[in-house]
Amino acid sequence: MNFVNDRDFARQLDQVDPLREYRHQFHIPQRNGQPLIYFCGNSLGLQPKAARTALDRELTVWQHLAVEGWFDQDTTLQNEPWLAIHERSKPALAHIVGATEAEVCAMNNLTVNMHLLLTSFYRPTATRNRILTISGDFPSDQYALETHIRSRGLDPAKVLIEVTPHAGEDTWRMATILAAIEQHADDLALVLLSGVHYYTGQAFDMASVARLAQQHNVPVGFDLAHAVGNVPLHLHDWGVDFAFWCSYKYLNSGPGGVAGLFVHEKHHADTNVPRLAGWWGYDQSRRFEMTKGFVAMPGADGWQVSTPTVLAMAVHTAAVQLTAEASMPTLRLKSERLTAYLHFLVRDLVQVITPDDPAQRGCQLSLLIPANGKTVFGQLTEEGIIGDWREPNCIRLAPTPLYNTFEEVWQVGNALSRLLTIG
Ligand SMILES: *Cc1c(COP(=O)(O)O)cnc(C)c1O
Repeated sequence: MNFVNDRDFARQLDQVDPLREYRHQFHIPQRNGQPLIYFCGNSLGLQPKAARTALDRELTVWQHLAVEGWFDQDTTLQNEPWLAIHERSKPALAHIVGATEAEVCAMNNLTVNMHLLLTSFYRPTATRNRILTISGDFPSDQYALETHIRSRGLDPAKVLIEVTPHAGEDTWRMATILAAIEQHADDLALVLLSGVHYYTGQAFDMASVARLAQQHNVPVGFDLAHAVGNVPLHLHDWGVDFAFWCSYKYLNSGPGGVAGLFVHEKHHADTNVPRLAGWWGYDQSRRFEMTKGFVAMPGADGWQVSTPTVLAMAVHTAAVQLTAEASMPTLRLKSERLTAYLHFLVRDLVQVITPDDPAQRGCQLSLLIPANGKTVFGQLTEEGIIGDWREPNCIRLAPTPLYNTFEEVWQVGNALSRLLTIG
């Protein structure tokens, strides 16, 4: 598409946007009666209006049924018993990550799920114990890997293989990642990557990584924190072994909202998968017999540990249903265009470290501001444009297709142009 740096042009794109009504399903934060331009959905997604309704419904159930809320269906309340609350978000999650409903389950938080899945799928042997990942991933993932490896009595320095960008480059070359998997294949016990990198916004070719890892019989897992609800995912068809994500970024489930995980069907029959279990992963039909000896629920549900956080689960379900209803292919189509428009408007003003190729990125663009970046960021905030600042000189902007508009993108481009040419 040929873009034009013009407000009316942007407004025309909004008029023909099939998702334009979704913006009204969110609370857009305001300042002085004016809506903020919120390009921070990669950090905390906005509140869907349906969140309060969903939350209120479960508060009412708690108020009137108390403990009976777990099992009872009251005709006036028309409640759904909490016992099966983990099932409510399954259709939406399965659509969003490209999985069967049995392969996904909402539970815990991201880093907790990462540890649980490492317990299950990192099975080092004397000859194969290395984990291939990328350098400079999100700190929580680094700490989890480091401490998890130590907990197995191994040395992180000897286990981890961190693929780095080439000298002078900001992003990773897929060919280099694939070559590293090939080169170390005989030593690898696991390949673990982020689907989309939090800092650069680079989207990795997960299909190729998964294909190559499978060719070498190496389990492969993805951290989908910045990928879920953002880029197309086909975890089942790609043959990914496991994946995990948080839901407060592009899935709009609220601060610290309940996370999720994926375990491929090919592992469901294996009752010997090592795991750190709790009673909520126990066979639901017999859970309350409280007998000795763990019997897992089939599929991803068997990784549940604790009683689900019902209130957070209610909000989460409402939020992911919005994303699924909008549908990932439609969201992606708009997203590619929104981000390409932002790229068109800023590319001559700043260095964009996010790849130019739409297939290698999601919503987010990471801009390197050459001088006084923090001041520019402060000025943007003052003008009601909410992005995200990363030291030493990076502004991350994520126009999201559910609630952002082309006109907002134009406004951000216009503001940056003003601020960077006078500054
Ligand atoms: C946001 C994010 C996290 C956050 O983990 P929590 O357990 O939810 O605090 C972890 N990893 C990555 C890559 C992230 O982007």
